[in-house]
Amino acid sequence: MKKLILLGIMLASAAILVGCGKKAEYEAELQRITCISNMQQLRGAGESWKILQTDPSKVPALTDLCGPEDGKYMKSIPECPAGGEYQIKNAESTIDVTCSVHGLLANEAQ
Ligand SMILES: [Zn+2]
Repeated sequence: MKKLILLGIMLASAAILVGCGKKAEYEAELQRITCISNMQQLRGAGESWKILQTDPSKVPALTDLCGPEDGKYMKSIPECPAGGEYQIKNAESTIDVTCSVHGLLANEAQ
């Protein structure tokens, strides 16, 4: 629910930017929103993966989470619309997902 509210706020602010005629900023904001959504899905997949691991310090690779095979959490590795690379850095207490363009997925965005 919190995610939907946050997404609504982001879309509303993106719509306001369009109203001001700032198309480039709107497109950048749209890419950022899409990227955050991708990272949230990766974090969710990583958390599901982590439940099944016996070693809590193990960090999943993107290919552990994504692929067409059965048992993967996502059908393919999501792509950042701005061309960023995703990386999963830590699985100790939370799954940290980063994008090389948009940075670390903030915890408040969960
Ligand atoms: Zn990104």
